[in-house]
Amino acid sequence: MADVIQESDHDAAAPAIADEAPILDIQGLHRHFPIRNPFGIRKGWLRALDGVSLSVAKGEIVGIVGESGCGKSTLGKAVMGLHPVTAGTVTFEGQDITARSASVDKAFRRHLQYSYQDPGASLDPRWKIGRSLQEPLIIHTDISKEERFALVRDMVRAVGLPDTHLDLYPHEISGGQQRRVGLARILTLQPKAIILDEPTSGLDVSVQATILRLLLDLKEQFELSYIFISHDLSVVRTICTRVAVMYLGRIVETGPTEEVFASPAHPYTRSLISAVPNVRGKRALQDFDLKGEPPDPSKCFPGCRFLSRCREAVQVCDSIDPVLTPCGERHSVACHLHDGVTENSTGG
Ligand code: SF4
Repeated sequence: MADVIQESDHDAAAPAIADEAPILDIQGLHRHFPIRNPFGIRKGWLRALDGVSLSVAKGEIVGIVGESGCGKSTLGKAVMGLHPVTAGTVTFEGQDITARSASVDKAFRRHLQYSYQDPGASLDPRWKIGRSLQEPLIIHTDISKEERFALVRDMVRAVGLPDTHLDLYPHEISGGQQRRVGLARILTLQPKAIILDEPTSGLDVSVQATILRLLLDLKEQFELSYIFISHDLSVVRTICTRVAVMYLGRIVETGPTEEVFASPAHPYTRSLISAVPNVRGKRALQDFDLKGEPPDPSKCFPGCRFLSRCREAVQVCDSIDPVLTPCGERHSVACHLHDGVTENSTGG
C-alpha cells in the first residue's frame, strides 16, 4: 500500500479544527480502494479519502457535507474501523485507535458509536424491540438481566417512546420511531461520541424536526459529541456548531457553521449553499453554477481537484494543490484565491 501514499503538504498542513483537547482527532486519513480489471489484477486506486484531518471537541456537533461520493460516509466508517485505513491516525480520548487490538476495539466501541442511515435495517425483524435493544448489552457488558431490562427501559423513555414499544416488532412502528429505537440501542452502551450518518434522510419534514430536537436533547442529557454526516445543508445549519465541506475525498473548507454559511470562502461551498431551497427568498438556484460531475477519484491531481468545475480558476490552479489555510477565526479554506499563492506566482 505504501506505493500509493506519500505524505503531502495537504496532510501536514491541514489544521485541527478544535482549540481545546479533542475527544476525537483525525489526522491525515487516507482510505484508498483498489480498482481491479475483470481478471482481478489491480489497475489503480480509488482515493475515497485523500488526507482528511478533523478534530471534534467534547460537546460539539461537527457537520460533514458534500455531494454523494465525496467521501463523507467513508470517513465515518474509517473512523469506526469499518473500513481499514490506508494511512493516517484516529485518536479517541487520547488513545490511538487506528491500529487497535480486538480488546481495545471492544472497549472503545462502547464509547464511540456509529448510527447507520437506516437504523431500522439493523433491527432483526424476528425479534421484539426489547430483545434487539438488549443485544448490544449482552455483547459488550456483563451486567445482570435485571440491570439490562432497567437500562433498556430508561433509554426507550429517553428517546420519547412508551415502554409498550418494547413488545412490538420493527414492522409495527413508523420510520421515525425506528430512528428513535436505533438511538436507544446506541445509548444503552453509554457512548461519549456518535457518528450520525444521514440521521434524517427519508423522513417527513415534521418528523425530521422532532428527531433533530431529540438529538439536541440527548446531547445535553448524556453529554454527547456528534459527527453529523448529511447532504442536507439546511439540517446541518440548524444543528451543527461547526461544518466541514468535503470534495473528492478531502475537506476543502471548515469553520463555524454560521460563518461558513454567511461567508463561504470556497467556490464549491458557495455553489452548494446557493442550491439550498429557500421557500421565502429569491436566492434559490439563481446563483447555482456547479457544472457537471466530480472528476474520476482514481486520477492524480497535480493542482486543485475542483478545477474542472470552478469558474474562478486562476493560472496556478492546474499546477499547485491548495492546502487548508486560515481565512478567519477557526475558518480555513483550500483555495488559491485565499492562500496568497496567486500573488506570489504573479509577482514572480
Ligand atoms: Fe477554483 Fe482555483 Fe480555488 Fe480550486 S484553487 S477552488 S480551481 S479558484
